[in-house]
Amino acid sequence: MTIEEKIGKTLAELGATDAPAVEALFAEVRAAMEAERHDLISRGAADDRERDRLCRELRDRWLARKHGLVSLIDENWLKKAPKELKPVVGRAFNQLRETAACMEAAELVRIVPLLSSVGFMAGKTQVVSAKGIASEGALGTSTLTPGGATPTDLTLPGYRRPLGSIHPVTRVLREIEDIFLGLGFSIETGPEVESVYYNFDALNIPDSHPARDDWDTLYIDSKTVLRTHTSPVQIRALEKYGAPLYIIAPGKVYRHDNPDASHSTMFHQIEGLAVDRDITFADLKGTLDFFAKKFFGEKIRTNFFPSFFPFTEPSGDVAISCTICGGKGCRTCKESGWLEMMGCGMVHPEVLRYGGIDPEQFTGWAFGLGVDRYAMMKYGINDVQLFFQSDVRFLEQF
Ligand SMILES: [Zn+2]
Repeated sequence: MTIEEKIGKTLAELGATDAPAVEALFAEVRAAMEAERHDLISRGAADDRERDRLCRELRDRWLARKHGLVSLIDENWLKKAPKELKPVVGRAFNQLRETAACMEAAELVRIVPLLSSVGFMAGKTQVVSAKGIASEGALGTSTLTPGGATPTDLTLPGYRRPLGSIHPVTRVLREIEDIFLGLGFSIETGPEVESVYYNFDALNIPDSHPARDDWDTLYIDSKTVLRTHTSPVQIRALEKYGAPLYIIAPGKVYRHDNPDASHSTMFHQIEGLAVDRDITFADLKGTLDFFAKKFFGEKIRTNFFPSFFPFTEPSGDVAISCTICGGKGCRTCKESGWLEMMGCGMVHPEVLRYGGIDPEQFTGWAFGLGVDRYAMMKYGINDVQLFFQSDVRFLEQF
């Protein structure tokens, strides 16, 4: 039975008495529609006039108000459906109507290629166009009538498609990843929609910690958040691989911040974690100093300040000598000579325990840094929003 024949019958006549049977019928209709559309696209049209005609014909076959196939489905399937099947048929019909929007003539004209245009399927077009008229029969190009298509001038240049470039944040992310991959770290990723357990509890952030306040965290529900940092990946990796472990976890994180020049509700972090026997603060300092020199240049000095994070003990902030003034003091570094670079510390024994690691046997260090800020520092950009506005004039500079 052809698809028209099926559409000409009622669902009862077709023996479709339950939801799966109805859905299968609609799937068949959609497939037939898609096949016909695809067929027209792959055949193309000789010229504008033929394309308009073919597109209009196909559109009318499906969408004509009176005898179009979609109207007939409405008439024969939906209106005549038994009461109990009405909701199912109605839903499937609405879905079909939405899909059928791609059969509007204007939509089809946009994507059906002209065989006489250079640039589309260059190889095929050249053969058809150059020899199409002379040896039409031999090539089997029956859609080309003599005089119907203008031979194409093959010496004309083709269409040049603009090449994209790598986003500056991705560029910096990869650069940082490369440095740590060179040190023997591997890359771990985790979900951006994270459980409260991994985002807070397992990181030793108790209920009372201000970071749990709504102001900072975007909650999906009481047990699920958009992760506020990449630290949950630490716990997930510890659970998965145990110790020893050397990983970095790059990715997007989310905060309930008002967007301004230095804040964005979505930004990028890289978290680092090293867990092994006899890991000390000296390993942390050595590694991060090495990283800073690799990334910012050999002349950079690092400075470690005491700080506080619930998931590390002791905790520190790392600053680098100002990349602008070299440490003498300027506006960028607020006359201090230092620029804040990341937070770090020795992994809190509680966190190791949450990850299933015995803190008597293993110790570790961790750090977290904001990639977008690094990209801003590296390229001298003063507004983080520029990264995410997709303005080509900004992005094509990289
Ligand atoms: Zn400075």
